[in-house]
Amino acid sequence: NLSHRLQVVADLVPQGARLADIGSDHAYLPAALLLNDRIEFAVAGEVVKGPFENAKHEVSRHGLADRLIPRLADGLAAIEPNDHIDTITICGMGGALIKQILAAHLDKLVGVKRLILQPNIGEPGLRAWLAAHHFEIMHETLVAEDDQIYEIIVAEPTLLPVRYNERELTFGPELIMHGGPVFTEKWQAERQRMQFALQQMQQAAQPPVDRINDYQHKIHLIT
Ligand code: SAM
Repeated sequence: NLSHRLQVVADLVPQGARLADIGSDHAYLPAALLLNDRIEFAVAGEVVKGPFENAKHEVSRHGLADRLIPRLADGLAAIEPNDHIDTITICGMGGALIKQILAAHLDKLVGVKRLILQPNIGEPGLRAWLAAHHFEIMHETLVAEDDQIYEIIVAEPTLLPVRYNERELTFGPELIMHGGPVFTEKWQAERQRMQFALQQMQQAAQPPVDRINDYQHKIHLIT
C-alpha cells in the first residue's frame, strides 16, 4: 500500500509506461505500479547502498525481478538505452537536487514523454529549469501529508518555447488555475508566516533591508 503522496504520483503515470523511478528508496512506487498491471517495466535508481538494498528486497519479495531492475547509480545514470524509458518519477527530494539530477544527463531525457516530479522545497527554481529545457508543465496538484503540503508537477517535452512569469514560477501555472481550497490554504498560511517574520525583521536593531524587501515582494505576490 502506497502512501497517499506516492499514490497520487502513481495515478499520474501513464498506463503501460516504461518507468524510471529515481531516488526510489524501497522501490514502493514502481513495485505497486507493476503489481497493479499499470506499467510494463521499471528501473529503480538509487545512489545510496542502504536504500538500494531496500529496493532489491522489495523486488525479490514480490517476484518482480524480470520487470523491475534496481540499479545503484547517481540520478539518471541508472537509465540504459535498452530500457526504452518513457516516464521518469523523482519524488521526495529538494527541487534543487531534482534539477541537478535532470541537468546532469540531458541525453537520458531524449525519448522521455513525461516527468512526474515531487519536490519537497525549491519548486520555483525547478519550474524555471523545466521551462528553460523545453518542458511544459501540463498538470500540477497538491497533496497534504504529515502536516506538509507537497506539490506534484507533471511536465512533458515540447518544441515550442516555454515561458512562465514570476507568479507562475512561484505558485505553479496549473495550481494558480486549478489549485482549489488546499492551494488557498497553503498560501494564506505562508503569507501569515512571512508577515510575522517581516514584523520581527522590521523591529530588529539593524533591519536586514534586502530580506525585508524580498519578503515584502513575496507577500505582495500572494495578495
Ligand atoms: N522517492 C521516494 C519517496 O518519494 O518516498 C523516496 C524519497 S527519499 C526521501 C530520497 C531518496 O533519494 C533517498 O533514498 C536517496 O538516497 C535518493 N537520492 C538522493 N540523491 C540521489 C541521486 N543523485 N540519485 C539517485 N538517488 C538519489
